[in-house]
Amino acid sequence: MDERAPDLPPDPDDSLMEAPDEITMRDLPNDTGLRVVGPEEQSTEPDDRSLRPSRLDEFVGQSSIKEALEIAVLAARERAEPLDHVLFYGPPGLGKTTLARIIAAEMGVNLRTTSGPALARAADLAAILNSLRDHDVLFIDEIHRLPRGVEEVLYPAMEDYALDIMMGKGPAARPLRLSLKPFTLVAATTRYALLSSPLRDRFGVVHRLDFYSAPELTGLVRSNAAKLGVEITGDGAETLAQRSRGTPRIANRLLRRVRDYAQVRADGVVTEPVCDQALDQLRIDSLGLDEQDRELLRSIVERFGGGPVGLDTLAASIAEEADTVMDVYEPFLLQLGFIDRTPRGRVATQAAYEHLGLEGSGPTVQRSLFGDR
Ligand code: ADP
Repeated sequence: MDERAPDLPPDPDDSLMEAPDEITMRDLPNDTGLRVVGPEEQSTEPDDRSLRPSRLDEFVGQSSIKEALEIAVLAARERAEPLDHVLFYGPPGLGKTTLARIIAAEMGVNLRTTSGPALARAADLAAILNSLRDHDVLFIDEIHRLPRGVEEVLYPAMEDYALDIMMGKGPAARPLRLSLKPFTLVAATTRYALLSSPLRDRFGVVHRLDFYSAPELTGLVRSNAAKLGVEITGDGAETLAQRSRGTPRIANRLLRRVRDYAQVRADGVVTEPVCDQALDQLRIDSLGLDEQDRELLRSIVERFGGGPVGLDTLAASIAEEADTVMDVYEPFLLQLGFIDRTPRGRVATQAAYEHLGLEGSGPTVQRSLFGDR
């Protein structure tokens, strides 16, 4: 028989069994163990929230994802059902969190936000799931960092809107299935490959977010400049967009820095020359690479003879975490064709040598000879 937790009498005998991830009744009504990250806490800049689109039609680019979501939302609303579970993956700053918020807004439901690393215990997740209301959206960021024991709580929750808990302890313990309100899980990850297949398979909708084109980012820059009250010329917006690594979060950040520069060093108007000067001063080059990106490329070229070099060695050489290199630096460098991933490690390509203005060449011949790709 399915029952919801609040209707059950509290059982004083409930306690944790041998498995630390076992969920008991005691875990459910008590919200104190929750670490729910509010959307506001995720903002890195004071006016970040004002720039975050709140509806689908304000969301720039990613047209096929937008269209698919629009159809899914309309259909679910018409049927008065929750939206199917959605997974977004792709590099940081491309709009995964924003889309989760938009889905909740378009569905007209509440959004609960948390992240994989914040859910250390199965009971934390169980308590959140149990507190969701009809059709609510639960957003789990960095879902690849969810501990395996916690992930297993999601399986029955996603599939049957159910929570499996243990009643009692010792030989008298018996499993009990509690029903949850129908909800939508929206999850985001920068590492699709790290998700287990049982988890991947439970998402009905999976979308990969790609880097944005320069015209898309130009449009974003122009409309956000208007929201911030910044005067920007067409050329200025194009230059800023071209140097934003195809990433809306970076475009927004650079727009604020360029605004500051224009205010202090120019007459407040962001023209192309003002934008160029401001970005040069921030050491952001014509393709949007910053000092760390170039350091990474230089390291492959100068310290490791162009590669191949293993990820951990490369990361250590520039004093970065391997995860940061993989999630933050590499996707755009791969997109530019400046590095290649081979089974023996990362290599710098000819294009990287040329961009850095360095003599020599990427180990193109060697790669093809050994069939590394
Ligand atoms: P992610 O979750 O993928 O790291 P976010 O959703 O937090 O990225 O997006 C970072 C910022 O970039 C947001 O604050 C939002 O203002 C902006 N942004 C991202 N994608 C878009 C978009 N398609 N249109 C407009 N703004 C966007």
